[in-house]
Amino acid sequence: MSFRPPAAPDRFAPRFAELATFMRAPLAEAITDADIGIFGIPYDGALTNRPGARHGPREIRNQSSLIRAVNHATRVDPFALARVRDMGDVPFESMFDIEATHEAIARFSGDLVAAKVLPLGIGGDHSVSLPLLRAVATGGPVALIHVDAHTDTWDSFQGSKFNHGAPFRRAVEEGLIDPTATIQIGIRGTQNAAEGWDYSESCGMRVVFCEELHDRGPQAIAEEARALVGDRAVYLSFDIDSLDPVYAPGTGTPEIGGMTTHQAQVLLRGLRGLQYVGADLVEVSPPLDNGTVTSLAGAALSYEILCLLAERFAT
Ligand code: MN
Ligand code: MN
Repeated sequence: MSFRPPAAPDRFAPRFAELATFMRAPLAEAITDADIGIFGIPYDGALTNRPGARHGPREIRNQSSLIRAVNHATRVDPFALARVRDMGDVPFESMFDIEATHEAIARFSGDLVAAKVLPLGIGGDHSVSLPLLRAVATGGPVALIHVDAHTDTWDSFQGSKFNHGAPFRRAVEEGLIDPTATIQIGIRGTQNAAEGWDYSESCGMRVVFCEELHDRGPQAIAEEARALVGDRAVYLSFDIDSLDPVYAPGTGTPEIGGMTTHQAQVLLRGLRGLQYVGADLVEVSPPLDNGTVTSLAGAALSYEILCLLAERFAT
């Protein structure tokens, strides 16, 4: 494997060169190489509407070559704090079978968790959060910070309980997340029924509709999330459709009235210092994008999430 890029990324080398790993992070040679493992989940077989998120990981990696290591707002350099590796993509053997695909994702991320590697999954449709939660919630239900236009707590669609509008309902049923330690941020958009919103609220989740985020500001919402989660093990799931379609048109179910990219940065930077056990960023659909604006936002916000994970390794 000596043909691969060096184990320490050369940040001063031309970033458009070489394989498009995430931010030019080295490809992992072994699972034990990493403190944080970034991996692609190129799967959109559980979508209910516009397709294309299977192409998200590759284009996010491509656009991530524009992101540099040091965060101008926090001065965090994740590559200085932790061994960050690109683990490649989850290999699929049954991509026409949602449940078998979810098993493959749970196995892949479970191997990372068993090797004490923090998983950061790049989707893919939002159904992939369920198998990721199965992998990280080994010690009982975790807290959840979920940023999205949709609660994704709906039930079956077209006969499947595992569609991308349902992962967090299934996660409650499977005992993977504690709904009373769950906050859903940025919720908005029309629905055919209120059933998903009602489910979230009736099982004790804190549901922050986007109007409240605009009224109170992302910093106040982040502080509330930190207080709710406390020092519990927490998973962070970020759906790119939480952004307004002006900033993220390349996604399957866009909803107007969403966050700006700046608000998303402020929100994420307000979530430092938590006990993260894993994270994902999902629903980027390059075929629906205008240019590469959505993939760039996905790459830059994945970087902000990477900074949050890396601070767990700060000494
Ligand atoms: Mn979602
Ligand atoms: Mn959504």
